[in-house]
Formats: sequence, C-alpha cells, structure tokens
Amino acid sequence: MQKSYTPANTYLIMTPDRSLLIDSGNVIQESVDLLSEALESLAVPLERLDIFVTHLHVDHFGAVEALWRPGMRVFAGTSSFREQQEDVETRFGLFFPAFDAYEQKSGVTVLPERELSYAYYTIKKDIPVIRLSEGDTLTYGPYSFRVLETPGHERCEISLWDEENGIFFAGDLILKGAYTNIYPRDFSRDDVQDYFDTLERLKTLKPSVVYMGHGSSMDTQELVDACEQARDHHQRRVNDVYRMVSRGHHDVMDIAYSFTYTGQRRRWEQYPVGFQWNMMCEIVGYLNHLVHQGKLIRRKSEQGWSFFVH
Ligand SMILES: [Zn+2]
Repeated sequence: MQKSYTPANTYLIMTPDRSLLIDSGNVIQESVDLLSEALESLAVPLERLDIFVTHLHVDHFGAVEALWRPGMRVFAGTSSFREQQEDVETRFGLFFPAFDAYEQKSGVTVLPERELSYAYYTIKKDIPVIRLSEGDTLTYGPYSFRVLETPGHERCEISLWDEENGIFFAGDLILKGAYTNIYPRDFSRDDVQDYFDTLERLKTLKPSVVYMGHGSSMDTQELVDACEQARDHHQRRVNDVYRMVSRGHHDVMDIAYSFTYTGQRRRWEQYPVGFQWNMMCEIVGYLNHLVHQGKLIRRKSEQGWSFFVH
C-alpha cells in the first residue's frame, strides 16, 4: 500500500557548545538521511546535540531513534517512550473496536499495526527522555526558552517561548491554512476544552514570529486569526456532532460515517484508512467534550461506545 507522508519542519539552534534541534522529522529513511546530512554539513556533533520533541507524533520524533547517541539529551512532555507506547495502546484499545466493527461490516479488515503504522509508531530503543514541564527553561546561546504545556492536539504537547526575542515554537498547535486535529487518548480529560484553552493562551503571547511543525511561519496577527479560526472550526464540529446525536446517531462510527468532511459529502470508505482513523479519533474527542460539558452521556456498546443526549 502506498503511504503518504506529510512534510514536517525541524529547527536547529546552533551554538559553539550544545545545539538544539526542535522536532526531529519523520521516521522514513529519506527524512532521516536528509537530516543526518544537514547536521553533518553544519558540523553539529550528535553527542552535543539535544532534541526537543514538541509532541509524540511520528512526524515530529520519528528520527530520534536513528539520531540518538550517548550524550544527546532528548526533551519531551513525557517521561519515557514506554509511556508514549502505553498511550498509543490505550488509544487503540479504547477506540479501535468501533473502527474495526465498521470495517468488518463493510468487508475490509484493518490491521492497525500495518494500515495505521503512522499512528502506531513508537520508539523501541530504551532512549532516556528528560521530561519538561510548564515553566522549565532551556537556554541555547542568545535564546532562552520557557517551556509551555500546551495540550489539545496531543495531551503531552509542549512548546517553547522566548519572550525576549519574541520567538515561539508552536509544534502542531496551529497550522496555516489547515486545522490541527485533536487526538484524545482516553475519556479522562476533555482534550477539546484543553485545546480551546491552549488557543486562548497563544493569543496572549504576542510573538514576533511563530515557527510551526508544518508550513511557513506566522506573525502575531496571523497567530491570533489562526487561533480564532481553529476555535470556530472545532466549535462548529462540536455543534454538528451534538446535532447528529440528537437526531438519532449514537455510535461513534455511525456519526463518523454520516459526517460531512471538507464541506461535501464523500463516502467514508473513499478516504485513506489513516484519514478515517484521524476523523474517528477527533469525533470521539468532540463527543467526549460534550460528555464533559454534561450535554451527552456515554455508554459502552458492542461497537465500542454510544452517546445519548443527557
Ligand atoms: Zn502532530
């Protein structure tokens, strides 16, 4: 099966002492080779390189396993890659049954490890991770960054804010001309609300430049506009999902299948499996948000989970 990969950005802060790579790009060989060659041509020794991982998605930490050398420090919003693996397993365990039941009904069996390797990716090597939390600081040459905990897109997403220089590294919190997906891990937190809170926070930063995980940079006004548009987009979808439940669609897959994507009705099965998975996770996020708000109730069903108006 042909797999498509989204190009992702990585940023390097070089100093004569240690250097910092912000996100490490994808796991695919092409990406790893490109990054290794770039670091070599810039004469950045890997043992004096640190990697800051904004969030544990394969296009942001995929090359860590290949690049890692003793002496390298890997920073993330989690304590270990094992923890990340457990998160992935929790997500698949909780949400996959609905997806699987639907795929089987339509005659397609999806093997998550194969078809959704992108979402399933995890680091097998025992690479130590330094967990960063809100308020921690990282200084590289003239740049001093404060770590911000900015959940929503992914629960342990962190970002870097250099207030003095007005530089903000935003990971996938915001995108230009597209909307960030929300990936809940389980039902314990309201990830949609977390994302809305993160967006409000971003609007107060007023950076001169925002560097994102994908696409070109933004200025303050573009950031504020993007935050407002992202909030409107997700709020519209929350409202759509609520309307669907009140009209009698109760199962996650039924809602996902009946949903209108990119403004027009397209058959669910015409989308690539990875896209279907993203959409389903996001719909689970919207449903869970409505449960946390007291508007819906959740019940365990044969297809996974069902939702009803409270
Ligand atoms: Zn991501």
